[in-house]
This record gives sequence, C-alpha cells and structure tokens, in this order.
Amino acid sequence: MGDGDVDGVLPTEVQRQPEGRRHYEERQHKPGSAEQESRPNSRDDDPEKPGPDQPSREGEPAGVGQEDLGRGEQGEAWDEDLPPLRNEDQNRPEGTEDSSGIQQEQPTLRLRDRKRRVIGSWERVLVLAPHTDDGEFGCGGTMARLVEEGSDVRYVAFSIATRSLPEGFAPDTLAREVKDATAELGIPPANLTVHDFDVRTFPKHRQDILELLVELWEDWRPDAVFQPSLHDIHQDHQVIAAEGLRAFKRTTILGYEIPWNNFDFAYQAYFSLREEHVAKKVAALAKYESQQHRRYSDKEYIRNVARTHGINVNREFAEVFEVYRVVA
Ligand SMILES: [Zn+2]
Repeated sequence: MGDGDVDGVLPTEVQRQPEGRRHYEERQHKPGSAEQESRPNSRDDDPEKPGPDQPSREGEPAGVGQEDLGRGEQGEAWDEDLPPLRNEDQNRPEGTEDSSGIQQEQPTLRLRDRKRRVIGSWERVLVLAPHTDDGEFGCGGTMARLVEEGSDVRYVAFSIATRSLPEGFAPDTLAREVKDATAELGIPPANLTVHDFDVRTFPKHRQDILELLVELWEDWRPDAVFQPSLHDIHQDHQVIAAEGLRAFKRTTILGYEIPWNNFDFAYQAYFSLREEHVAKKVAALAKYESQQHRRYSDKEYIRNVARTHGINVNREFAEVFEVYRVVA
C-alpha cells in the first residue's frame, strides 16, 4: 500500500462528488425554507433548543422512549417493562430460563423494537467510513434498518485505497464498489461521498479531515453519527474516531465494531436486526470484489458476528456499538 503525499481529495469524478456537495447545499438550513417547514419534526438550527413539537423533558433519561412524544404515541412510549405482546407469544415454543430467571423468548425483532423508539426517530444519520467497506462491516445491517424505517442515511468514506488494490484492479475500483455496496443497503448515490486520502496517512491529514467533518456538521446536522470505535487500533480509523468526536460533539455519536481491529470494545448499544437486514449487509460486502481475498469478507463470518450479538440480547441478529454521546 502506498503512503505517498496526498492533499486529500483527488480530481477524479468521484472525489469531486458534485452530487454530494450539492446535496449538502440543498440541505443546508435556511430559516423558514419550504423543506424545513414541511418536515414534521424539524428543529431550529440550535441543536440545544427543543422544537415546538419536542417539549423539553429535563430530568428524564436521554434516549429512552421520549423521541416519539411528538408523534401521538405518548401512551406507548413507556412500556419498557411490559411483557412481550400476546400475539407474539402464541407461536413461541417452550422457553427456557437464563441465570437471571427471565424467561427467554424466541429470538425475533419484536414489535416494540420496530416501534419508532430510538433509531426510528433519527431523520438524518451519518456513517463515517475511514476506508470504503468499514461502514458496511461496522453497521451495514443497522444502515439497512435505518433506511427501511425512513431515515436519510449518508455515507462518507475517506479513502478508496487507489494505491493498495490487488493487481489487476483499476484505481477507481473501490469507488465503484462502494457505490454498489451502499445501493444494496438502500442508500442513493446522492447520499454517498468518497474522498481519497491515502491509506495509513490519515494522521498527516488530521486537520483537513476535521474540517471536512465540521463542514458536514454545519451543513447537515445529523441526528446521529456512526464512526469507528475509539478502541480501534488502525491509525486511519483512530483519526476518524477522534476527529468525529470533535466535529459532532453536539449530537449522538456511536462507535461501531470492527472486531479484528478492536483491542477492547464496550458492548453498550444493541440494534436488533432481522434476517433481511443481515442479508443486505452480506450482499453489500459481496460487492467488494477487490476485497474478497480477505478472511473477514467471509459471509458466514459476517452472519455469525451478527448472530452472536443478537443472541447476547435475545434477538435474532444485532449489531453492537459503543456509546460516546447521546443527545436527544
Ligand atoms: Zn478501514
């Protein structure tokens, strides 16, 4: 892999990303704009200021059931302790008890997971991928679920590794592959931005990367940001994780898991997934033909990680995240 000097964004069609840039501008907040007024849960530019339909609820725990209070679900927002719904119990085989004495249910994405409790309330979600495919590995299933639940998901990659591809692949291979991969997850091309910092040189470009991230915050104001874990040992991943915290400290930030790069990981936030979400994650990663020689590209491995995390919280599948900040 090359580590020559780059100045960040190369002058190729993808790196100029006219669609992505235009997209930011379209979404830039304009007080009183039609877009802003038409969005049911739109907020003022000030992220600390609750909107007219988001009453301030100081003293309540952040991120628990409060996001839908403006959507007419007040009566359903606080049923965390209720037993599973009866119609989901009926076809369940005999359960078992775990060490806590809690009856174990048949793993499934239960109705209350699907209700717009946490992730369904996020209108704009940003995924930061140091290299193309990191985002899919870390949160591909969650991206598929977010898209399904109506979130606008943006994917920003910082390297297409033009100098470290296997022999025989064109320099722009990963730019094409990431487009196909994110399309599998339901992310439109306009929501994809690809930069090309050289692999393993991100520490040299830390300030440039921070400025790109700050621009994203100012233009788009994501409700949640997915980024690498602070425990990820890859030098490029570390830069995105550290600068992500700086740029997005006023919103929710979660760290995704790249198991082979995480020397430590706190299992804090689980997002349950259904079979089709995992299938989309596997299909997305299969689009990276140039990376199929890597052992972690094995589809059974990808499914098994999601299965393992699902079982840990008695769901069918899940992805797990570190929680750096929750702003609700
Ligand atoms: Zn990476």
